[in-house]
Amino acid sequence: MSAPYFTLPEFKYVKPQTLEEALKILAENAGEAKILNGGIGVLGFMKERMIEAKILVDIKGIKELKKIEYMPGKGLVVGATVTANELLQYLEKNPEIKKKFCALYESTSELADAILRNRATIIGNILEGLPYTDAPGPAILFEAEVKAVSTRGERVLPVEGLVLGPMMTSLEPDEIVTEILYKEPPAGARTGYVKFNPGLEYGYVNVAALVANPDNPQKRDVRIVITSATTLPFRPKAAEEVFKQDIPFEKAAELAAKKIEEEIEPLSDPYASAEYRRYLASTLTYKLLIKLARGE
Ligand SMILES: Cc1cc2nc3c(=O)[nH]c(=O)nc-3n(C[C@H](O)[C@H](O)[C@H](O)COP(=O)(O)OP(=O)(O)OC[C@H]3O[C@@H](n4cnc5c(N)ncnc54)[C@H](O)[C@@H]3O)c2cc1C
Repeated sequence: MSAPYFTLPEFKYVKPQTLEEALKILAENAGEAKILNGGIGVLGFMKERMIEAKILVDIKGIKELKKIEYMPGKGLVVGATVTANELLQYLEKNPEIKKKFCALYESTSELADAILRNRATIIGNILEGLPYTDAPGPAILFEAEVKAVSTRGERVLPVEGLVLGPMMTSLEPDEIVTEILYKEPPAGARTGYVKFNPGLEYGYVNVAALVANPDNPQKRDVRIVITSATTLPFRPKAAEEVFKQDIPFEKAAELAAKKIEEEIEPLSDPYASAEYRRYLASTLTYKLLIKLARGE
């Protein structure tokens, strides 16, 4: 008899080669079938008996899901089965696109380790719904949308609000996310990502930020997304609003950091207390914003 935990329960494995075939299997087995992408999250959660699936539908054989395409003015489309390393390689080969989506590049470089990045997909990382993962921050920063397809048709959903908790999303059980669109940032915007993770792979606090026109309050655009500090990604809208005031950027960044400190409701766990995360969220955001505004 095998041990109850850390061994996989029995399940049926299927690997359709077309999207239609995969959608049909999901529609016929709604609630019993789950999608297997890189598999790191889904297999781990099944081993720990935190989720159940009678059928795992491996979508990696569906060729059309392995696409990366930049559409000038619209944004960057990343297919559902694109791994972290494939995205990094694409961005390294296309320095202009990498520059535009710098926060995406930096966060993907920080995602787990080189071996896991060969397997982990960007979409799987977002849909896994763990507070500590690296892909959700830049997705929300670039106001990304996913395309969700089922036998009933397709719909487009913003990434912000898509995840409800670990392994919980607002997707229907028979829907496949086929791609994610990272929207084109404003002209001249600088973006970046910081991950504070001494001695760990996951971050205690991760911050993604975008700064455009820092010296012109009328045209300034500042976006901030904090992850790993709270259960779900935190977009401190009150802190972003501060940058609309007619005050120097550095002053606005100070006020924004204070707003974050007041408004964030951080997690407390054995790695970091809520107070430490509050301090990190505010300080890391301030430093990142100043760095982006100065073009360092
Ligand atoms: C030792 C270790 C260290 C790690 N460190 C980090 C780290 O530092 N940073 C970090 O971000 N992550 C880290 N992770 C987590 C890892 O990166 C994620 O588990 C992985 O990215 C999930 O992607 P996946 O492709 O394996 O998804 P899967 O496990 O295949 O899927 C995850 C979930 O999404 C669903 N799903 C997947 N694709 C689709 C789709 N196209 N449509 C609909 N539903 C879909 C699945 O059904 C499942 O519910 C670590 C994991 C381990 C084991």
